[in-house]
Amino acid sequence: MLSEKAIQQFGESLRGELIQAGDQNYDEARKVYNGMIDKRPQMITRCFDVADVITSVNFGRENNMLISVRGGGHNAGGLGICDNGLVIDLSQIRYTHVDPKSKTIHVGGGCQWGDVDHAGHAFGLAVPAGVISTTGVGGLALGGGVGYLSRKYGLTIDNILEVDMILADGSCVTANAKENEDLFWAIRGGGGNFGVVTSFLFKGNPVHTNYAGPTLWHIENTERILKWYRDFILNVEDDLYGFFALLTVPGPPFPEELHGKKMCGVVWNYTGPIENGEAIFKPIRDLKPDFENVGPMPHPMLNAMFDVFYPTGLQWYWRADFIKEIPDEAVAEHVKFGEALPTPLSTMHMYPINGAVHKVGKNDTPWAYRDANWAQVMVGVDPDPANNEKITKWTKDYFDAIHPYSAGGAYINFMMDEGQERVKASYKDNYDRLVKVKNKYDPNNLFRVNQNIKPS
Ligand SMILES: Cc1cc2nc3c(=O)[nH]c(=O)nc-3n(C[C@H](O)[C@H](O)[C@H](O)COP(=O)(O)OP(=O)(O)OC[C@H]3O[C@@H](n4cnc5c(N)ncnc54)[C@H](O)[C@@H]3O)c2cc1C
Repeated sequence: MLSEKAIQQFGESLRGELIQAGDQNYDEARKVYNGMIDKRPQMITRCFDVADVITSVNFGRENNMLISVRGGGHNAGGLGICDNGLVIDLSQIRYTHVDPKSKTIHVGGGCQWGDVDHAGHAFGLAVPAGVISTTGVGGLALGGGVGYLSRKYGLTIDNILEVDMILADGSCVTANAKENEDLFWAIRGGGGNFGVVTSFLFKGNPVHTNYAGPTLWHIENTERILKWYRDFILNVEDDLYGFFALLTVPGPPFPEELHGKKMCGVVWNYTGPIENGEAIFKPIRDLKPDFENVGPMPHPMLNAMFDVFYPTGLQWYWRADFIKEIPDEAVAEHVKFGEALPTPLSTMHMYPINGAVHKVGKNDTPWAYRDANWAQVMVGVDPDPANNEKITKWTKDYFDAIHPYSAGGAYINFMMDEGQERVKASYKDNYDRLVKVKNKYDPNNLFRVNQNIKPS
């Protein structure tokens, strides 16, 4: 039991806020992006700076508290928050600094990706990240990072140059290719297992205005389009990215006659010379999409395009797999589950991870599936908790149908709580090396609210 005095002293030693059960803003502070997650921590520290993070790690460890670290709070399984423990909330550590000379971007550990997109854009630089701009940098960058720039510039982890982090013993270290190399290797895919990252240094890549947007076809075209797409995306130049999706068309700005219609489609991003855009898209337009909105688009706009459709607080149920090939039998399952999308926001995305992602060795970072071609995710989503059973059943059934055609593991950032064997399968032969690093830096597993790498 923690004494009132100890808690009071802890609160007074922070520059940021200490929020406890019963405080007016407690319920708001414990909310995460996925409305299905309802956890009640004992306290939450809204860290103002690195010193607050050190104080919080030390307080949690000395008092045997369960600790969770919250970046953007987007995690599928709600791993930024915990029951009865201490949440180290980084959301106030939110700054960026671009160095145009070295083409690098310094990013505070609590930033969202929109912050990085915004900062880099002014200098014509971008870091590969995901497809929603409100996602936290911390969780996405430490777990892998797949999205619009993956085929051209690799995963987010392939663009981390350095991190500053607070270890389980409260010490602050820098990890890069020359300093604490074992730690630098492990944090590029091993998630939040090794400590709290308070700042990232990313490589900025030359990206400004893309030729991008969606092409959609009515759902009865799924077989035709998916069979074309599976070959096309594996052979086209790395400047073109396109993730395949099954979806229901939301309201505006889509044309009214499509509202509520189930469709399949591809969301594209071409980062080559913009004047080549028309020519690159000719074979795609020849497939006569029922809707398209492809054209020049500033990079931050592309990354924020879907934010409005997926506000915080919806109910989400996730399942995922890595995919090497999409055989005809798998296509037939996608057709079936696409036609049965259970709610308007439920969807399936297949993010290509070939191109530049394949140019990094499978043991160079913990990301073991460098030979997979897609990170696939199916998500049942709805605002109404009354539909949870429906969205969960569709997602699980879909996963069960497709899993036999998968590569085995999954991208850890697309998983909910699926057990230790699944975590191991996702790191394959990199798992034992991750355990060694965990033994060295966090032998007591202080940082365990994550896709956990258990110390031995
Ligand atoms: C709508 C939506 C769209 C998404 N799209 C993509 C996508 O396109 N591409 C993609 O790769 N992923 C995507 N994701 C998945 C995303 O990568 C994960 O949800 C990720 O965990 C989010 O990071 P976060 O910081 O917001 O999460 P949080 O819930 O805050 O944290 C998640 C995990 O990361 C750890 N963590 C977070 N920050 C730090 C830090 N600074 N130091 C140490 N540990 C930390 C936490 O302890 C926790 O274990 C998406 C998620 C959502 C909800």
